[in-house]
Order: sequence, then structure tokens, then C-alpha cells
Amino acid sequence: MIDIDLTPRQQSILEITQSEGPITGKQIADKLEVTRAALRADLALLTMAGLLGARPRVGYYYTHKDSSDYIAGVLGSICVEEVQSTPVVVRETCSVYDVIVTMFVEDVGTVFVVSEGGFLEGLISRKDLLKASMGQKDLNELPVKIVMTRMPNIIITTPEESALRAAQKLLNHQVDCLPVVNIVNIDNTEKQQIVGRFTKTNITRLFVHLADM
Ligand code: ADP
Repeated sequence: MIDIDLTPRQQSILEITQSEGPITGKQIADKLEVTRAALRADLALLTMAGLLGARPRVGYYYTHKDSSDYIAGVLGSICVEEVQSTPVVVRETCSVYDVIVTMFVEDVGTVFVVSEGGFLEGLISRKDLLKASMGQKDLNELPVKIVMTRMPNIIITTPEESALRAAQKLLNHQVDCLPVVNIVNIDNTEKQQIVGRFTKTNITRLFVHLADM
């Protein structure tokens, strides 16, 4: 279980509300022999963290939640679009050689293959390119279509999906990257329009950012 690092005073506030709540901020301050103002930041943090509830004219009460509920709550409330990267795309007419150059120049591990209008057709990773390079074929002549993973076998995410859910998809399917798509309906066919790229780097960045908050 993950725990938020609480200060000794915050721990004391939790213990007091657990045994005596609901209790007013002034009463907690008196017990701890500090002013009400000195407790303001601690009470705000504990309330935001969901560990304390606050009712006007009644006071603070212990919620019986733990900090892992809070962390799950925070992660579940951050959407993919808040952390996603810019997608790197090529057209399906591209050669494998062109994709290698694109991947190198754009410094990404996964390139999306799109049809006109930016609709997702396929996806190509480093391993796909290595595999294609192992044959005797001329990579300039080899179309990306032949080696890409194609729809409908691609695991996608959407801008509104929680970052936590998308991260679970990366783990469950053992892939490094998910295309972020808007689902649109064209001539009664569902199409996936690429709007972003969700990667393990986005999660690492979010992880560090949350610790800095
Ligand atoms: P790497 O090639 O760097 O190990 P991945 O682990 O992401 O990168 O890719 C492994 C395989 O999974 C490749 O064949 C790739 O085409 C495929 N793949 C990558 N991302 C997805 C995805 N979102 N959905 C379906 N298949 C994927």
C-alpha cells in the first residue's frame, strides 16, 4: 500500500478526529496547544487528501479512508489528454526505410500509420523495424503496410480516458505506446482519428510531477 508522508502534527490531528470527531478546528487547535490559524494548512491538506471530512457548524470527522484511496483518486482523475505527447505519423504508402528515418529524426519509439485525414491504419515499433531489417529485402522497396501492426488489432486510448486506465492497458498488453484517438463516424463506419500519443514516458513524467506537487 502507498502512503502519503504525514507530519507528526497531521498524524495527531487524524488521531484526535478519529477518537473525538466530529470536532471543530478550534477544539483541535486547543488540544494541540496551537492557534487555529497554525492548523489551517494541515486541515486543508488532510481534507483534500480525503482523510478528513468537514461539515459546516459540526466540524471535522475521520473518513476511514486511507491515503492509497487518495492516490487512486488523483490518478483516476487525470485524463490522457493532460499528459499525452504529439503523435508522429506516416502515410501507408511510406517505405520501411522512410519509417526508420522518421523514427530516428523524431526521436520516438512508435510511429503511427495513417490514411488521408489522419485516420489510424497501423502502427510500427522498433521491433517491427528490426524484424523487417533482418531479411534480405530492400527496405526502400518494402512498404510499411507489410510490417505494421494493423487495425483492428491496435490497443487505443481516448483523450478522456483516465491516465491510470491507459497505463493499465500498456501493462496488460505489454506495449510501449497507445495511439490517442477520437472516434468519428464516417459513412456509418467508425474511424479512429489520431490526436495524440500516450507512452511510458508520459507516465514517468506524471509520476515525478505528482511527487513535486
Ligand atoms: P518495441 O518494438 O520497442 O519493443 P512495443 O513493445 O510497443 O515496442 O511493440 C511490440 C509489438 O507490439 C510490435 O509488433 C508493435 O507493432 C506492437 N504494438 C505496439 N504498440 C501497440 C498497440 N498500442 N496496440 C497493438 N500492438 C502494438
